[in-house]
Amino acid sequence: MSIKTSLNYSPNFSTSTRNKKKIKYIVYHYTGMRSENKAIKRLTDVSSNVSCHYFIKRNGQIILMVPELYEAWHAGKSNWKKDSSLNKSSIGIEISNKGHEFRYENFSKNQITSLIKLSKYLIKKYRIKVSNILGHSDIAFERKKDPGEKFPWSHLATKKIGIWHNINEQKLKKLRRKRISNIKMNNFIKCMSKIGYLTKNLKNNKKIKLFKSFQRRFRQKLINGKIDKECLIIAEKLSKLSK
Ligand SMILES: [Zn+2]
Repeated sequence: MSIKTSLNYSPNFSTSTRNKKKIKYIVYHYTGMRSENKAIKRLTDVSSNVSCHYFIKRNGQIILMVPELYEAWHAGKSNWKKDSSLNKSSIGIEISNKGHEFRYENFSKNQITSLIKLSKYLIKKYRIKVSNILGHSDIAFERKKDPGEKFPWSHLATKKIGIWHNINEQKLKKLRRKRISNIKMNNFIKCMSKIGYLTKNLKNNKKIKLFKSFQRRFRQKLINGKIDKECLIIAEKLSKLSK
């Protein structure tokens, strides 16, 4: 299997190659810029110091910017499970979308079709675990919101791309905004840690950012930074799936 791409190389990558075995993660991003062309320019501009391996245009075309065996600079300071600085162990995929700062839009159908094809190809090639398929905000929640609550995680999960809970929607809805005790709150944080989130040294503001990042990924209908019963049962379920 191969993937049809066009080439537009970025000069922003680490020049030594990495061993295939080092590649454990896929990280999704949105570009978060006013225009697609500007985003492509930035990711291929030597002065920006940022890049990705693959870029997915609104029309679904895939651009290869950095070959997989080189480290692209997309993740920055980041953590997941016992790993930090995920650039060295991941493939970064940028998906064209204006993002929260401009006019956050739905990802296009063509983008999702391409994303599924590309992800399946990478998962097979590098034997990437389902629990290691991540969004930028999962691994850098203090700084990042991408790919955000419009990213179709539940749909991708039906293709075995990323973990999902599959709890009945009606059941979940009844638990939304229902308060939980402090003990349960500690349980929730333990579950998050099991899933892979960095839960150390959580002060107020940081905690809210972490909770929002969980919601953008797993409870996309309400992003309020407050953990309720719905979030709790989702986290409990996911913590059992995550290895
Ligand atoms: Zn990002």
